[in-house]
Amino acid sequence: MEHPVNNTRLICTLTGDTPEAMARQLAQAANTGCDTVEYRLDYLTPPPKPSDLPAILNAPGLDVIATCRPLREGGKFTGTETDRLAILQAAAEAGANFIDVEADVPETDRPDGTIISSRHDFETCPADLAEQVAEMEASSAAINKIAFTASNPADAFKAFDVIRESRKPTLALAMGEAGLPSRILAGKFGAFGTFAALADGLESAPGQPTITELRDLYRWDAINEDTELYGVIGCPVGHSMSPAIHNAAFTAAGINAAYVPLLIEPGAEDFNRFLDAVLARPQLNWRGLSVTIPHKHNAMDFVGQENCDPLAVRIGAINTITISPDGKVRGDNTDYAGAIDALCDTMEITREDLAGREVAVLGAGGAGRAIVAALTHYKAKTTIYNRTVSRGEELASEFGAAACGLDALATMQAEVVINCTPIGMHPKVDASPLENIPESVRVVFDTIYNPIRTKLLTAAGNANCLTVTGLDMFVNQAVAQFEIWTDQPAPSEVMRQVVLNRLNG
Ligand code: NAP
Repeated sequence: MEHPVNNTRLICTLTGDTPEAMARQLAQAANTGCDTVEYRLDYLTPPPKPSDLPAILNAPGLDVIATCRPLREGGKFTGTETDRLAILQAAAEAGANFIDVEADVPETDRPDGTIISSRHDFETCPADLAEQVAEMEASSAAINKIAFTASNPADAFKAFDVIRESRKPTLALAMGEAGLPSRILAGKFGAFGTFAALADGLESAPGQPTITELRDLYRWDAINEDTELYGVIGCPVGHSMSPAIHNAAFTAAGINAAYVPLLIEPGAEDFNRFLDAVLARPQLNWRGLSVTIPHKHNAMDFVGQENCDPLAVRIGAINTITISPDGKVRGDNTDYAGAIDALCDTMEITREDLAGREVAVLGAGGAGRAIVAALTHYKAKTTIYNRTVSRGEELASEFGAAACGLDALATMQAEVVINCTPIGMHPKVDASPLENIPESVRVVFDTIYNPIRTKLLTAAGNANCLTVTGLDMFVNQAVAQFEIWTDQPAPSEVMRQVVLNRLNG
């Protein structure tokens, strides 16, 4: 099959437990755009007889890898080693293009055929990785495969290093959610292939994405050695919408870039380990990072206040890191920019026009802090209403705002109300932080984006107020990131549609 941009094989793993189930999976795999299938023969129950192999390994138009993984290497085959090797020998004779054999099988016992010599570590990234690679290089196998377990996305870079330093075609994969970049970006680094599952639930190894995710979400077919890299750092990060938004934006703008999720455990040590590994490898072409909970403060500490937007420094957090080709880092906070610009766009005013306007901010947490800092920076007369009054007072004194408890909401005299509490968020959609919309209020902004039209915003619409949604804020912060990174206008409608599809789907 033709590889449009990179020569890395997209390998769909087949894990049916009967020959019929394998055949059904093969039919689906053939429609996904993969070029190679891996038959996990150890999943078959009962194990296949050698004479069954020609009928099972029948994949017209696709290259075939035959694997029969024993228990000792994380597989399901429980029979004797002699029987296992006989199955693999029969697979080679049935025409399988590649035979996966564990590295501990003596060379004299290996089947005839093109051998992938494989090693797996389901616990950690081995300390003796270099020695293991040297042994693989010295063996007679045609192709190396090493899969280990990542504790940090920086371990994925070790997989890329292995591929780069190997003379033979090599599969190197970091397993687990933290290792996902090693699978998504295998094509950038010239790996022999990457493994993908046919569908959720059919993974044959921890952290394996589906083929649809690789192709539709992560731009597999567009990734090559020049691809620039971006990602979102968080913990958890699996449900972040940012990869979908930014990858769709890169596609729409015709930019050769890919954006991946980066699971980094809480704490500065893990955060710094990843950033140090990125900066030590200019060949990655890593250009930008979104940063979310719990790393926004770690990000500012790493980048250094002198390299951050001054208002982000006052907020004490950044959500955007930009890395220049010469390795310089810069920090921005597009959370506040996204919110303030959503408000100003709706009011058809500039940021400077906020001066002197009365704004009520409900909540004093992370979102409230960023918004209060921006409002007071632009000289809006800001009052914070918070459940824990002392927390609101603390924030107010830091930024020159006023503060009261939620009971004072009934008598507020603001032109703009901004909800920065989770009251009204899914699933408690029947709640609202305001019983009634006060007479003075002309604009209501709810930072919640699930649901998009909260009970508060519905009431505001009924009272003929202008409304700003959390969706506007969320899309704006991503648009601002895209524009900082690429220096070109973001395809904001595409980005908005991605979020809408996700929220509706
Ligand atoms: P946070 O740091 O946990 O702060 C939550 C704030 O809400 C605190 O001030 C808390 O008051 C208050 N609060 C929580 N539950 C409450 C309740 N039942 N009654 C009254 N007050 C309550 O959270 P955050 O990160 O600031 O997020 C707050 C909201 O902003 C969330 O709904 C989130 O969806 C939204 N948000 C939206 C975006 C976007 O892009 N659209 C981005 C970030 C956040 P105490 O101080 O008394 O605990």
